[in-house]
Amino acid sequence: MRYFNIFSTIFITKGAHRILVSDLQRNTSELYPLEFYDLIEELKKKSIEEILETYDRESQDIVQEYLEILLENEYGFITENDWDRNFPPLSYEYFEPNLINDLVIEMADISLLKRLKNSVENLEIRHLVIYSSKPLTLEELISIDYTFTSSLLSGIEIISPFHSEIDLEFIQELNHGTERIYSLIFFQCLHKPFKIKDDFKFNLKFVTEPIKISSCGKVDMKYFNTNLPKVLEALNHNSCLHKKISIDIEGNIKNCPLMQESFGKIQNISLEEALAQPGFKRYWNITKDSIEDCKDCEFRYICTDCRAYTERSHYSSENLDISKPLKCGYNPYTNEWKEWSKNPLKQKAIHHYELQKLK
Ligand code: SF4
Ligand code: SF4
Repeated sequence: MRYFNIFSTIFITKGAHRILVSDLQRNTSELYPLEFYDLIEELKKKSIEEILETYDRESQDIVQEYLEILLENEYGFITENDWDRNFPPLSYEYFEPNLINDLVIEMADISLLKRLKNSVENLEIRHLVIYSSKPLTLEELISIDYTFTSSLLSGIEIISPFHSEIDLEFIQELNHGTERIYSLIFFQCLHKPFKIKDDFKFNLKFVTEPIKISSCGKVDMKYFNTNLPKVLEALNHNSCLHKKISIDIEGNIKNCPLMQESFGKIQNISLEEALAQPGFKRYWNITKDSIEDCKDCEFRYICTDCRAYTERSHYSSENLDISKPLKCGYNPYTNEWKEWSKNPLKQKAIHHYELQKLK
């Protein structure tokens, strides 16, 4: 008798009509028909021969084809004996000891960062995302990195407008003078100042279009993220808002800078005080399993859940917004992607958020 054993790092998400097989070690995901799911479940209980016996000739060929897919993609392996199969399952628990992972700042003035230094250390913040609508000088960029020298902060992402001083020398100096910046995006750059080679410490991007902070929340396959920590977080918590704290352009401390509710102004209270306010964490544990449509979507554990822009159609008994993210054009019941902004059912919410200009 032969038994198929699926590797514990192969994670399967069942959608309304398809399944997504994610390889959490290789960070890849592939779509398959729903019948593949039933076969994988049967293979967990029975031998290959026992399963083949229950099918007619034609269906046996299909089972063989699926078995080849399982083996070719290295989703598992075959053993000869049932008693060889006692492999421990992977734990799907998520644990991070720090209080906050991500700090997002819509930055008006760089001097704000010095005041945040202690809070970044106390909360053991790991990632900082800075969106600046004003161009940043070389000195300002180096000083952002330098401010957090003694903290646990391991990564800084900066999104700011391009300006004429940015050339190869500017970027080379930045490369020498910084440690934590891992991503730099300069927008409104009509002509790239030089050809980007991969010999910088950070990912560098020059983008032609303007980037507005309100562009956040778009759902697209290119943003899907198959990696073990992110999938585990999405299984247990909200995939965008868990352990996130933000400061908007006016200094309001919020869970995400685009959400309505403010928990105080950074001019008056600390990040720690805002975090302790009742309601700050109300969306932290809402997973996609309770979000309308997403709960039947095969992409739900690799997709980010936006609570700042939703269809505003469904609310839980605790008055939490559990509507589908507004900027998603995927229908898990038809498996079709359509332009979200043209969907007539979304127009009311689009007007509510004043997003008409995005169309
Ligand atoms: S329905 Fe859209 S937002 Fe929801 S999980 Fe699927 S792709 Fe993501
Ligand atoms: S909740 Fe939406 S707008 Fe806010 S950070 Fe997440 S994806 Fe972006």
